[in-house]
Amino acid sequence: MFFSLCKIYFIFLQKKAYNLTTFSAVLIHPDITGGRCAGTIYIDQFNVCFNAEEIKYVIPLQFLHISAGGSGNRLIFFSDKNQNAISIYTSDNSILKSEALVNNSLFNEYIKSTKKTLNKSLVGTLIFLAIIVLFFGGLYFFKDKMVSSLANQVPIEWEKKAGDKLFTTMSLQYKFIQNDSLKKVFLKISDPLFKQVEKDGYKIDLYFVKDPTINAFALPGGKVIIQTGLIENAKSWEEVMGVLGHELAHVTKRHHIRSMINSIGLFAILSAFMGDISSLAGTFANLGGNLASLSNSRSFENEADEEGWMMLQNAKINPKGMISFFETLKADHTTKMDTLINKTIDLSFLSTHPNTQQRIDNLKIKMKNDQNKYIVLPVNYNEFKDAFSNL
Ligand SMILES: [Zn+2]
Repeated sequence: MFFSLCKIYFIFLQKKAYNLTTFSAVLIHPDITGGRCAGTIYIDQFNVCFNAEEIKYVIPLQFLHISAGGSGNRLIFFSDKNQNAISIYTSDNSILKSEALVNNSLFNEYIKSTKKTLNKSLVGTLIFLAIIVLFFGGLYFFKDKMVSSLANQVPIEWEKKAGDKLFTTMSLQYKFIQNDSLKKVFLKISDPLFKQVEKDGYKIDLYFVKDPTINAFALPGGKVIIQTGLIENAKSWEEVMGVLGHELAHVTKRHHIRSMINSIGLFAILSAFMGDISSLAGTFANLGGNLASLSNSRSFENEADEEGWMMLQNAKINPKGMISFFETLKADHTTKMDTLINKTIDLSFLSTHPNTQQRIDNLKIKMKNDQNKYIVLPVNYNEFKDAFSNL
C-alpha cells in the first residue's frame, strides 16, 4: 500500500550522470510507522530524492519548497507544495550548494531566505554560548570570593570540632613530648604570634612530637604541632617563628575550611552561597576524616607567606628567619612541611614545590623594602635546641 505513494525512479543511473552528493536526512510521512524514517537524500536535475532501505520518496523540483525549521531553526526542510503533511529534512547546510539548486533560478529566493534564517539561528546560538561562557567564567572568577565569604560564615566551633577529630586520629600514631619547662620557653617567644591569632577567636594549643622529619603544621581551630626535626634543623628562633607564622596564617586565613569548601564543587558552593551556610553542616560533620586529604593550594601558600610575614612584623620578630629557613628546606628533600597526617600527599611548602624559589624571591623583595626595627629574642636558641635534643 505504501509503495503506491512512492514513485520509483532509475536513481542510480541518474546519480552517476550528475555526480550527486548524498546527505543524511529524515523523511516525515504520515504513512510510515512512527511518522518518520532516517535515510539519505540527494538532489538531481529533476527531483529531491530520499532513500531508505525500504522507502524511496521524491519531490519533483517544480513543486519543491525549501525552508529552515526544526529546533532553533537549524534544519533544512524540503517539501512538496502539494503535499503539506510530507517533508524531508537534513541538518547539513551544504545541501544548499547542490548543483541542481544553485543552477536553478527558481530556488534563489528560497536559498537566500533559508540561509538567512539559518544564520540568524547561528548568531542566536553563538550569543547563547557566549552568555553561558560568561556566566561560568563569572562564577569561576567569583568562586574565590564566594568561598572566602562562606568560610567567614563558618563558626570557629565547627573548625575546632573538625580539628579535634583529626587530632584524635593523629594522636594514635604520634609520640608526644611532654616537657612543661621547654614548652614555657617556647611559649615565651611565640606568645606575640599566638596573641594575634587569639584575637581572631582561636585558642592555640601547642604540641611537640618526636619525629625527625622537618615538619610543623596547624590544624583548623588552632592546634599547632611542632616536630623535633624542625627544632633540630632550625638555626635560630627567627627561623622557627617564621615557620610558625606561616602555619598560624593557615589558621587565621581559614585555609582548611576554604580547601574543604573548594572541594565540594561550584554548584554546591553557589547553592550554599545563595542559601544558608547550614547546608554545609553535613559536609563538616565528616570533615575530620577527610581533611587530611585536602591540599593547600599554591595561592594559599603565598597567602600564608604574606600573612605570616605580617604577623612576624607585628610581633617585632625579624621575618628574615622565614627566608633563611625556606632556603635550608629547599635543599632538604625529606621536608614535609604542611603535610597534615597523610604523608603520602606532598603538600610541602618547599623542597618539591616548583615555585619555591619564586616564594623565596618574593619574600626577599619584602625584606629589602622593610624598614621595621626588630627585637633581640630573649632566649638563646642553641641552648633550647640542645635541651630539646637531650629529651
Ligand atoms: Zn603552608
